[in-house]
Amino acid sequence: FEPSEHRPTEAIVDLNAIQHNVRVMLEQMDDEQKLYAVIKADGYGHGAVQVAEAALAAGAKGLAVSTVDEAIELRQSGHRFVPILVLGLTDPRGIAEIIYYNLTITVSGLDFFAKAYQQLEDTHHLAILEDAKLRFHLKLDTGMGRIGLTSAAEVAEFAKAVEDFNWVDWEGVFTHFSTAGGGPESYIDYQWNNWLELTTAVPESVRLRHYANSAMGLWYPREPKSDIVRYGIALYGVDPKDQLPSATKSPLKPAMSIVSEIVHVKHVPAGTHISYGATYEAADDQWIATVPIGYADGWLRRFNGIPVLVDGNACPIVGTINMDQLMIQLPQEYPVGTTVTLLGQDGQLENHVSMIAASTDTIGYEILCGIGKRVPRIYL
Ligand code: PLP
Repeated sequence: FEPSEHRPTEAIVDLNAIQHNVRVMLEQMDDEQKLYAVIKADGYGHGAVQVAEAALAAGAKGLAVSTVDEAIELRQSGHRFVPILVLGLTDPRGIAEIIYYNLTITVSGLDFFAKAYQQLEDTHHLAILEDAKLRFHLKLDTGMGRIGLTSAAEVAEFAKAVEDFNWVDWEGVFTHFSTAGGGPESYIDYQWNNWLELTTAVPESVRLRHYANSAMGLWYPREPKSDIVRYGIALYGVDPKDQLPSATKSPLKPAMSIVSEIVHVKHVPAGTHISYGATYEAADDQWIATVPIGYADGWLRRFNGIPVLVDGNACPIVGTINMDQLMIQLPQEYPVGTTVTLLGQDGQLENHVSMIAASTDTIGYEILCGIGKRVPRIYL
């Protein structure tokens, strides 16, 4: 499935903004802490390979993805030695590739090891363990309720049993806070206390202990510090709580804008209906333009109330958003080829992803990840 190069709709990704956002976080961190760029879901829609390159050049020390396949894509793109942590749980049947590509995986219990070893045996791949070990981080569930061990007793049992596996390298332990980016702050304390308790059962030899995502890293630094800051949404310049920079004075710079062009324009008389369901009826004579982006590109039907920007004007979307096109009302005639900004700045106006998220009952993360593969990414 290739991006559509033959229409004027593009996502422009400013890699300088990504680098700036890495530096913003690094300034708040100690020298011993490592920033890992979280580039799962194709770098939150920005392009994992390009974002990895930019973030590493700006000082990131590692990468984090969600799946083994995402990690392999990065290794194959040339990142041969940088640590890549797979945050989701993985299928033990992929063990040979995990070791071959030198990935660090997340483990949530002992089951994985027996199954993975069996898989290596069954497929005659045991020799791979002569040169390499399986490197892993143990996940602790301190209150997110997703994956991980939940009690110090379980962790102690795990620590004892894992000693029997001489082919594994237990490098790290980590957890994830569920309310640092929104929700009751008291729940952060609850999770923190669980983290302190559960990690008492982790052997000293486990070198990397981490709990910070963007929100924990930026807003809730604690002692002992997170050895790794897993920096996701803020890397892309977006506030984890979708607060607007005008309110927070945040130094983060959004990296993605989305632009298109008018491909059709017409003057319609009052009473003209526009789009599916004929729900829109022009109240007077109007200039109506068509823009080639729609819900298949991630510009969802519920973004209907978000005006797009044309020549510094906010132009309302009229009628329903189609799969591949949408119609807007112009304040005056503009020619085919005029730039339309869906996300980003045009003159004094800005369509900020967090503003769109707040007014469409979603989060900036979801909008960015949802921008479809059909939209070419252009890198600045
Ligand atoms: N760590 C884990 C385990 C995650 O699942 C995620 C993303 O959801 C992150 C870090 C990055 O979070 P954020 O984008 O809020 O910085």
